[in-house]
Amino acid sequence: MRIYNTFSKTKEEFVPINPPYVTFYVCGPTVYDYFHIGNARSFVMADIIRRYLEYKGYNVNFVMNITDIDDKIINKSKEHKKSTEEIAKFFTEAFFEDIQKLRIKPAISNPRATESIEDIIEMIKVLEQKGYAYCIDGNVFYDITRFKNYGKLSGKNIEELEAGARVEVNETKKNPLDFVLWKKAKEGEPSWDSPWGKGRPGWHIECSAMSCKYLGKSIDIHAGGNDLIFPHHENEIAQSEAANEQKFVKYWIHFGFLNFQNEKMSKSLGNFFTARDVLNKYSPEAIRLFFTQTHYRSPLNFSEELLSASEKGVQKIINLADKVESELQKNNNGIEPNFDFQFYYNEFEKVMDDDINTPQAVAVIFDFVKNINKVISENENLNSTFYKKVKKFLIDTAENVLGIVHFDSLLKKYESIDDKLIELLINIRLALKKEKNFTLADYIRDELNKLGIILQDSREGTTYKRKK
Ligand code: AMP
Ligand code: ZN
Repeated sequence: MRIYNTFSKTKEEFVPINPPYVTFYVCGPTVYDYFHIGNARSFVMADIIRRYLEYKGYNVNFVMNITDIDDKIINKSKEHKKSTEEIAKFFTEAFFEDIQKLRIKPAISNPRATESIEDIIEMIKVLEQKGYAYCIDGNVFYDITRFKNYGKLSGKNIEELEAGARVEVNETKKNPLDFVLWKKAKEGEPSWDSPWGKGRPGWHIECSAMSCKYLGKSIDIHAGGNDLIFPHHENEIAQSEAANEQKFVKYWIHFGFLNFQNEKMSKSLGNFFTARDVLNKYSPEAIRLFFTQTHYRSPLNFSEELLSASEKGVQKIINLADKVESELQKNNNGIEPNFDFQFYYNEFEKVMDDDINTPQAVAVIFDFVKNINKVISENENLNSTFYKKVKKFLIDTAENVLGIVHFDSLLKKYESIDDKLIELLINIRLALKKEKNFTLADYIRDELNKLGIILQDSREGTTYKRKK
């Protein structure tokens, strides 16, 4: 499998540090609001890469942090006259609800910044001891001139950056490019004790400390949206490699932006739709299909037309899945046609192995659906073995990796139709009994019994149970 590494700017063979284990860290949300559909794109694509690694047999330790203390959370808490804990708790819960609705697999760990303060302080202490950090008036900064190759991920050099930053010279720092590791507490803001006085962590150090705590000093994959390459990930490298003296990340993966009218969707520009609102209008499968039809590194414009088209695409897979489920309920004894399932698995793997080419993987699945539909229409009686193989392919690829179909929801539909039909027959039987048509009423009871449905009459009415 080859994956594009932002660090080397090339596609590289994926070889984890300690196979079959893969350590995978994704920068998670800052919980001050509902997340938008742009954030959702990054979360879903990270989920798909993780699912594909699992498909390939890797054991993936997938960690996504929650930034639960930050300027934005503090501002929101002031605005709403609530504590920062209340704001963070509310939007953390909303985050979990929404990612579940998007069918994103739960992470192995979701560390919170506020629960990792000790680890963060420890890391800053190490940086200070090694001469990478300095404290001025209760604020601790990272001295970027001390780190060899600062800018190696983003390709920026210090001179260039200095030229750009000169306007915002900050008296409290040695160098305008130095970034904060520990922020001195301001009146009325949440704070923690530290060797530098009361304060709270900077954003970049949280991820360095939490990825080290949960995944170790060197990790396989670190991912996030393109906007995080600089300064967030650049600063994470400077912190982690200075503190731990070893390579921090083997593969850097970055997701292209979801744009709105060719501009990055973002809270600050106000050009966003929350994932919540989009989920009220479109199914999670359609949203995921909309994302997967563009390569994860390319920009993608938010489009209601494309979302509606994706809904239709999903319907094509559902129609086949529906047919498969109803045929499987019949337990057919027909023929098994010649169909090369392995060919489709190979094609799917070939394109996914090439830097997770989901648009082509989707094309393989639609080609499969089209050709299976053709086989079904050309053959009267196909056996269950065939339908089981169709179902297995769809579950292995479309459901378990891309998440663009969900068989369990279809089965629920079957169950509920089942229940509704039984209720209907019970009501018909009651009407027949009232008309004294006992022959037909008994016929319904006996036939249901043969299907494993036992009717129980009582004064309150008729109930039923299924034979075990
Ligand atoms: P934030 O809560 O802003 O830190 O963002 C959470 C994740 O969403 C990060 O990985 C961001 O890079 C990513 N992200 C933010 N905006 C977009 C966007 N418009 N398109 C894709 N990813 C985004
Ligand atoms: Zn991060």
